Order: sequence, then C-alpha cells, then structure tokens
Amino acid sequence: MDLYEYQGKQYFARFDIPVSPGGLAGTVAEAVEVAERVGYPVVVKAQVLVGGRGKAGGVKLATGRAEAEEHARSILGLDIKGHVVRRVWVEHASDIAREYYASFTLDRTTKQHLCMCSARGGVDIEQVAEEEPGAIARLQVNPLDGIDRAGARRLAAEAGIDEEALDGVADVLVKLYRCYVEGDADLVEINPLILTPDGRVHALDAKVTLDDAAAFRHPEWDEWRDLSELDHRERLAREKGLQYVGLDGFVGIIANGAGLAMSTCDVVEQVGGEPANFLDVGGGASAEVMANALEVISTDEKVRSIFVNIFGGITRGEEVANGIVQALERVEIHAPIVIRLDGTNAEQGRAILAGHASDRLVSLPTMIEAARKATELAGGSPR
Ligand code: GDP
Ligand code: MN
Repeated sequence: MDLYEYQGKQYFARFDIPVSPGGLAGTVAEAVEVAERVGYPVVVKAQVLVGGRGKAGGVKLATGRAEAEEHARSILGLDIKGHVVRRVWVEHASDIAREYYASFTLDRTTKQHLCMCSARGGVDIEQVAEEEPGAIARLQVNPLDGIDRAGARRLAAEAGIDEEALDGVADVLVKLYRCYVEGDADLVEINPLILTPDGRVHALDAKVTLDDAAAFRHPEWDEWRDLSELDHRERLAREKGLQYVGLDGFVGIIANGAGLAMSTCDVVEQVGGEPANFLDVGGGASAEVMANALEVISTDEKVRSIFVNIFGGITRGEEVANGIVQALERVEIHAPIVIRLDGTNAEQGRAILAGHASDRLVSLPTMIEAARKATELAGGSPR
C-alpha cells in the first residue's frame, strides 16, 4: 500500500524523524484554517499518489491568508497525471539551505536492504541517476547487522552532504532505517531532505510503501487503507482476501495461481478478447472462494462474460466443480460463464459441470477454446 505524503509524514513522526507541523484540508476554508493555525508562510501541497507534484503546480508557497486561499483553490480539483486532488496538506513552510535525498528499499538481487543518499535532492532522482550516477551514494545493508550512526555518517559524507549537515543526516538515516524495518515498509524515501539555514535536518516530503504482507501485525494501517485510491472492485476483493487487479476489458477472469491468471489474460488477448481483470483465487477453489471471486467480478458492469480457468492440484477437480456450482447458487451473475477445468480429477469435475450446463454455463476442455468462447459470448469476434 502506498501512503499519501501526509500519512508518510505521520509514519515518519512515529519514528522521530523531524517533519513540519501541518494539517489536512478538503476545502479551501479548511486549508485557510490550517494555515492560520500553523502560521505563515505555509506550503499548500496536493495529496495524490504520484510524484512530481511540484512541477505540476501541486505544491505552492503562501505568505498570507489571501495567497493560501488562492493556492488551495487552484490545487484542489487539479488533475495531476490523471489523479484528481481531493485533499491538500498545509504545513508551515521551511527555509531551505540545501536539498538532499535519502531512501531505503529492498535490493532483490543482493537480498539486502539498499540505502541511497545524495546531496542532489529536490529534483527527480531517476534523472540524477541517469545524468550523474556518481552523485548517489549507495550502501548495501545486511538485515542482520542493520545500519549504525557511524556507517550512516560515512555514507552521507560519501554522498557529498555538507559538513554541517552530516550528523543530522546520519541521525535521520538511522531513524529512517528503523521506520523501514520496524514499520514494515518496502520503500521509504525523503526527497527533499533539507538542511535549514539554522542547521537543522528535516524531511519535507515523504514517500512510503507499506508491505501488505505485514498488514496482519499493523491494525493501525486500516484507517489508511480506507482512504487509499483503490477502485470499488479492488476494495471489495481486498476485503475478501483475493488477489485482484482491475483492467479495462470486458472478459472477467478467475484463475487459481498468479501464473495461470496471467497466462489466462494473455490467452484472452491472443484470441482477440480484452481481460476485465486479473484475479488469482490462490491454491484452493472452494465454493466460498469461488462465490467471493464471482461476486467481485459481477460488480464490474463492463464484464460481459466470465472465464473461469482452474487447474486442479491439491484441490481436486470434483471439489472445484462443486465449489463453482454452489457459488452460482449463491451469487447472482449477470454474465455467462465459461469454465476450463483441468488437472487432478478433471474428468469427474467436468462431469459435474456438464450436469449444470446451459447457454449461461459452458465447460470446455482447453484454455484456448474457452478463451474463444468467452470472447464470443462477450460479443467479440474471437480469432
Ligand atoms: P514533489 O514535487 O511531489 O516531490 O513534492 P515535494 O514535497 O518534494 O515539493 C517539491 C518542491 O517544493 C521541493 O523540492 C521544494 O523545493 C519545494 N518545497 C516544498 N516544501 C517547501 C517548504 O516548506 N519551503 C520551501 N521553501 N520550499 C518547499
Ligand atoms: Mn518530493
């Protein structure tokens, strides 16, 4: 789950990383109220889950009430790369002497954490990486050792951080590492991490991606999840514990296993259909799971047919077939269903499905035939 900047800053604050006082606002009046409370100058910042807000006119400084009002008005409702701004974060503006960059993320190739630090912050870090790769200092952090202040300070020095900011940056790096590990994040990034003219080091922006696999030990994440930018299908799927990604097409897809779900999307594309979603029901395909999956897909009005592609492994074919039949009794489905069932005890499973066959429920033995049928039933012309 990606956090909005203001949520990321709340998370940072829990780990004692210095951030500016501010407040969230959904209207111009609320923005002005926050500005008056935190004191001018303030910075008004669009809260969207996309970077480069500054360049897009989503971050503006205001020296007084009239300006705060004007900026809040121009930013609320603004479209930033397809994300419409519904809320702004208003915080007391900082004086900036220097802008740095700091992050932790997982380096999957070395199976270690990766810390990156640069004296060239405030700008697009991908661009820095491209134009001047030497300007980013990197440190592999062994998860068993972690990072200590001395190591963090050496990295900061290597990154070319100004002398007077070295201790402050090292301090933030150590705290940021704790936030990343104990906070169960996949990514924590501060850009810019600033040095103020009076010598303080301070986070002006926050990018945090939480590791969803750790959600079970963070009940406090729930309030953030409710506000995240999921569409209604994705929200429902998450509530039901399904791996679901909404797409733009018209053939709903249910498969067991991520690999099979992806292949199913590919095969549907291949025959000229367009997948409406990716949905992996996981290893089991019980009636409960199938009913949940069908329910989620049925909320999508674009879906004109549903392709259920199940390969029986540990879950045997007849159990899967019974699961599907029971699910169909529970959920009202507006689109015809095409099922391809293979694997363990596929014959028995298909026999059960055959007993329920109709023009709304078709069972076919191969993936390609089923994909064509699903595309045809959706009103497409399969290849
Ligand atoms: P991003 O463009 O989405 O990464 O948004 P940021 O939060 O990083 O803000 C973009 C830029 O706005 C920063 O790099 C700063 O130069 C500027 N900015 C943000 N907050 C402040 C502030 O409190 N004071 C000043 N002077 N500039 C700020
Ligand atoms: Mn930024």
